[in-house]
Amino acid sequence: MKIFNSYTNKLETFVPHHPNRISMYVCGPTVYNYIHIGNARPVVVFDTVRRYFEYKGYNVQFVSNFTDVDDKIIQAAKEANVPEMIISEKYIKAFLEDVVALNCKTDYLKPKVTEYIPQIIAYIQSLIELGYAYIIEGDVYFRVSKLAEYGKLSNRKLDDLIAGSRVEINEKKESPLDFTLWKKTEEGLHWHTSFSDGRPGWHTECVAMIDDIFGEEIDIHGGGTDLMFPHHENEIAQSLAKNHHHVARYWMHNGRLNLEGEKMSKSLGNDIKVKDLNIDLKAYRMFLLSTHYRSPLNFSIEALDVFVREWAKITKTVESLHRTLDLHDSLESNVIVTAGDIMEVIDYFLTSMDNDFNTPNALTALNQLMRSINQKMRQKLDYAWLNQALRAINDMLSVLGLEVPLIRLADEDRVLINQWEQARVDKDFALADMLRKKISEKGLL
Ligand SMILES: [Zn+2]
Repeated sequence: MKIFNSYTNKLETFVPHHPNRISMYVCGPTVYNYIHIGNARPVVVFDTVRRYFEYKGYNVQFVSNFTDVDDKIIQAAKEANVPEMIISEKYIKAFLEDVVALNCKTDYLKPKVTEYIPQIIAYIQSLIELGYAYIIEGDVYFRVSKLAEYGKLSNRKLDDLIAGSRVEINEKKESPLDFTLWKKTEEGLHWHTSFSDGRPGWHTECVAMIDDIFGEEIDIHGGGTDLMFPHHENEIAQSLAKNHHHVARYWMHNGRLNLEGEKMSKSLGNDIKVKDLNIDLKAYRMFLLSTHYRSPLNFSIEALDVFVREWAKITKTVESLHRTLDLHDSLESNVIVTAGDIMEVIDYFLTSMDNDFNTPNALTALNQLMRSINQKMRQKLDYAWLNQALRAINDMLSVLGLEVPLIRLADEDRVLINQWEQARVDKDFALADMLRKKISEKGLL
């Protein structure tokens, strides 16, 4: 399969470092508020990537952190007059509720910065010892000039970066490009070290956690394009300095979510929280997957409505397939797909996903099979075909995180539908109409 590697800027054949095992890290949220709909994009994209690898039989070690040490958390804690931990725990819980509603898996390792302080301090200490970091008045900075490769991920040249950066007054750093590894402060949560009492900078958190958890270069590092510079560039710089590798062998970045053409940004005051969408969030998930993950995606209520209707159609078709098969006791579990037309759709689905996770094409395959199922259910029922189609559709839906729970007929509904079928056989149209109305009112048609 092919993955677009943002580091090399190329579509590359994906080969995991260890056979059958994939290591993945995705930058998680800073927990000081509810997440907005743009924050949900990397969450859904990388959950789908994980699901596809698992479908292919890989064991995926998936890690995504919580940044629970940050200026914004300190600010929120001050405003609410509570300890920072109260703020971060509240929004970690809220984040996980959103993640569940988006039907993303939650069984992954979720390290918090506050749990990794000794490892982060040791990481900074090694950078100092290697000459890649220096202390000025208790603050620790990374010495960017020592790393010729700096800027490669985001395609920026060192000279341009220097020319473009503002020279601040009373700047203590050797170069304006040098970034903070440790900030001396007694405000908010802080820890004692030999360089000063303070707290770590954001860029060291992720690399120190990855280093401690995986202990080697990982397969995939993911995140939004907005994190490419400086955050990911700085992660790579520290890792090159300390471990002589690029953190990950493949860097994956998802495109932005634009709000009706404009960049989703809190400063615009028009952000929409995930929890406020007020729809079945699988419809939002489907909307997110309807565009390739690397492309920008424009959000509008009208665009979302299309997927609310699409999702309702999918649910209806799959539920009706469940009922049709259940009614005739032919809901079988161990089905092997052999029908040529179904195999063709599966092939197209897999080829699309193998091509840098082309979910829009995967959704096209899904829709094609939905149409075939609806057609076949109107004809003389071929239960073997319908069972194979159900198996195929379930596989696709579970890769995309859009599972429709299995519906089983209640005994009374089964009796009702059987009576209706009998009435039609007997050509008792008055009774058939009456029963049909009843069945329809129960939402079974
Ligand atoms: Zn990160």
